[in-house]
Amino acid sequence: MTIHLRFQLAALFAGIFLFNIFFVGQTTASAASVPSPESHFGFKPGDDRKLFDYEEMMAYLRILEQASPMVKIEQIGQSEMGKPLYLLFVSSAGNIANLDRLKEINRQLAVEPGLSDDQLSGLAEEGRVFFLMTLSMHSTEVGPSQAAPLIIHELITSEDPQIRQILDNTVYMITPSHNPDGMDMIVENYRKYLGTRYEGSSMPGVYHKYAGHNINRDFITLNLKENQAIARAYSKEWYPQVAVERHQMGSRGPRYYISPPSDPLSENILPGIWTWKRIFGSRSLAAMTGAGLKGVSVNYLFDMYWPGNTSTSLWKGVVAMLSEAASVDIATPIYIEPGELSVTGKGLAEYEISINMPDPWPGGWWHLRDIVEYERVNTLSYLHTAAIHREEILRFRNGITRKEVERGLNEPPFYYIMPRQQHDQGELADLVNLLDKHGVDTYELTGDRVIDNRPYSAGDIVVPLDQPFRAFIKEVMEKQAFPVRHHTTGGPMIRPYDITSWSLPLHKGVEAVEINTRVEIPVTLLRKIEVPYTIGPEQPGSFTGVLFTANHNESYKAAFTAVNKGLRVDRLTAPFSSRGMEFPAGSFHIAIQRGLDELLGALLVAPSYLTEPFDGAAKPVRLPRIALVESWFHDMDAGWTRFLFDTYHIPYKVLRPADLQEVNLKRDFDLVILPDQAQSVLMAGKGGSPGNYTIPQYPPEYAKGMEQKGLNNLLAFIDGGGKVVSWGRSVDLFMGNLSIEAEKGEKQEFSLPVSNIGNRLREQGLDVTGSLLRVRTRSDHPLTYGVPEEMGVFHRGTPVFATSFPYFDMDRRVIASFPQKDILMSGFIRNEELLARQAAMVWVKKGEGQLVLFSFCPQFRGSTPVTYKLLFNALLME
Ligand SMILES: [Zn+2]
Repeated sequence: MTIHLRFQLAALFAGIFLFNIFFVGQTTASAASVPSPESHFGFKPGDDRKLFDYEEMMAYLRILEQASPMVKIEQIGQSEMGKPLYLLFVSSAGNIANLDRLKEINRQLAVEPGLSDDQLSGLAEEGRVFFLMTLSMHSTEVGPSQAAPLIIHELITSEDPQIRQILDNTVYMITPSHNPDGMDMIVENYRKYLGTRYEGSSMPGVYHKYAGHNINRDFITLNLKENQAIARAYSKEWYPQVAVERHQMGSRGPRYYISPPSDPLSENILPGIWTWKRIFGSRSLAAMTGAGLKGVSVNYLFDMYWPGNTSTSLWKGVVAMLSEAASVDIATPIYIEPGELSVTGKGLAEYEISINMPDPWPGGWWHLRDIVEYERVNTLSYLHTAAIHREEILRFRNGITRKEVERGLNEPPFYYIMPRQQHDQGELADLVNLLDKHGVDTYELTGDRVIDNRPYSAGDIVVPLDQPFRAFIKEVMEKQAFPVRHHTTGGPMIRPYDITSWSLPLHKGVEAVEINTRVEIPVTLLRKIEVPYTIGPEQPGSFTGVLFTANHNESYKAAFTAVNKGLRVDRLTAPFSSRGMEFPAGSFHIAIQRGLDELLGALLVAPSYLTEPFDGAAKPVRLPRIALVESWFHDMDAGWTRFLFDTYHIPYKVLRPADLQEVNLKRDFDLVILPDQAQSVLMAGKGGSPGNYTIPQYPPEYAKGMEQKGLNNLLAFIDGGGKVVSWGRSVDLFMGNLSIEAEKGEKQEFSLPVSNIGNRLREQGLDVTGSLLRVRTRSDHPLTYGVPEEMGVFHRGTPVFATSFPYFDMDRRVIASFPQKDILMSGFIRNEELLARQAAMVWVKKGEGQLVLFSFCPQFRGSTPVTYKLLFNALLME
């Protein structure tokens, strides 16, 4: 460090010191003018049966911001339904006044691998630990958000020396609600049934515009606006060093879960991050147990091998943690008999004294107040740990950055290269833009070059691994190999918490070449890509129309959007070539017409411009009138289908299963979609299975199914020429003996020439943990227009189809099937040979109608663009 810099820093410290003295006096004086949550809300947060909604919470937090120089609120985005999303900063007045400088220190620590020792010492001395806490993304888990006003009020009014230490050394960043739309839905529903028989019952539908609980399954794909905003905060803007995501779990196990997690761990994460998680967790276990809070557990149930908020932050060098409190019935207290206490999953095999739960809770009453208190003690202890280890944590963060960049230079893989010529160029462009949202730099080659014995061209995309977020890049670009671990030698494999595949290139159908030999691409051959990244020729001065290849998902988006806006769109019924470019059957032609310009302005990949009148074989595109069946049972897969359709501008109408009893399908719809949902829910509005139903915790008007009458209606619709698309568990509606009763009492009995053999294969030992499996598609069918002959589908091992020889007015075609071997592309599978040559997707004809059955979810969580076209083609089926 130069003398000059030292002098500046000394002056700065003196400034902060004086500043603090000034504000300490003011804060104490103004403490009385900071209203308590109790006086503001008229109840103390955590009181039984009392909740505030998002707007009420933010109104109070705004008052704190006005009253105290220790609070600052910044808007960071909007929710899917348009509510503002906020980050709230709580720290000493001096730190709050100095946020811009502290933010810059965070950035340097996070992204600059080449800091000198002196620079690092200066930053570690001057910086503060930024600790991000995101609250209640799962809106039924109300405790963390309800606790926030109390904790923030205590922090800014307390004279406790430990809290002073926290405020001086840390900046507490809070997302008061990660899911404001859901928070308001849940509070409104709770108030609606308060004092009735159904108080505290489940809210019908998903507590988010689309995703519900799956809001935490979207941190790689970043489909949702809430997650884009949070990811931007930690990946590109504020670079907090520590984070915790606050949840609630089931009611009958441990009272609280804190870091560290259970196995398995993501192997791309540097070990030091796990040890910091242990330090935070151990100190908090001590603090919480010391405060008399029983039932705190560590190493329990929750692992760090799945694409949630916490794991994805870990891949970016953040010491990220999860907390989980035992739930009450929203805000209604519950009583638990000691004999009802149990544990599930990993880390605790029985509900007894254990190193992972040294002081079990004995049972009894459990209130929202308890959750709020556990949240409070855990928050203060986590912040205190950050405060006492301030310099160490700041140095650690930069150490991670330095090591990751070194690993990228010295360990394979060194680069991922994605040729610009791709089957689906729109997905390539989307991937480049997504990596930018994650804080990853991408480059394009400025000239042709042979790399690792393969020629590449100018414009091909290069992702170097010597970047601060190397672990993230490797994790999302490689194919997943699930880390198989056991608790005891010879014991069962530790099951994954969620899915086991998320490789972006494979899920998007984009070719990415992993460069594992040490080659250096000269920096002069690389140009950094600026976003938004788009591909394609400039629009010529004059043209007669445009062609969109069926190979790009984006072409379908353009076609759907255009038809929706009233433009005429034609679909090629045979291949067509123009100026040396081949357009496969299923591609779209739009002649020049009013409204086309607007459409062309919003594309990632430009279409091909025609200068001659189009003379290929084509038919006009007509969008079907779609009924989408979404149950009231927190139907996330239906929610993701709505997300996909809204994103691609596909109109649809939602029907509930019970509606199928009454609706005139033939008059009002052309096509019915049944996403992944249990047959028992669709048929009977209950859980479990026929003969063994479980009563759901919904008010009775929401616990209704289609019953035999609705199924009859659906089958008659198909018989009369309707189309049905079904995937996942809903395919079971169409298996076995079926019948259609006409109004005159005429009855036809039949079984479709397809059966689900998934359960049988599972009994024989097939085990698929949510993996990407290879299928081969048939090339001579409109359902596979634009689809490669070999691709991955996201699969859970069931259903799987077997077709049979048809009779009467039925027929079937296998559209996609598993190959003989090498079925696993990414994730985990056991006994994959059981799937060899079995059918993964089947088209069935019955009477005048058609049925398309998928054994996989083609739109799984908005994270499998590689299979979207199979669904789009099904919508456009003639
Ligand atoms: Zn949760």
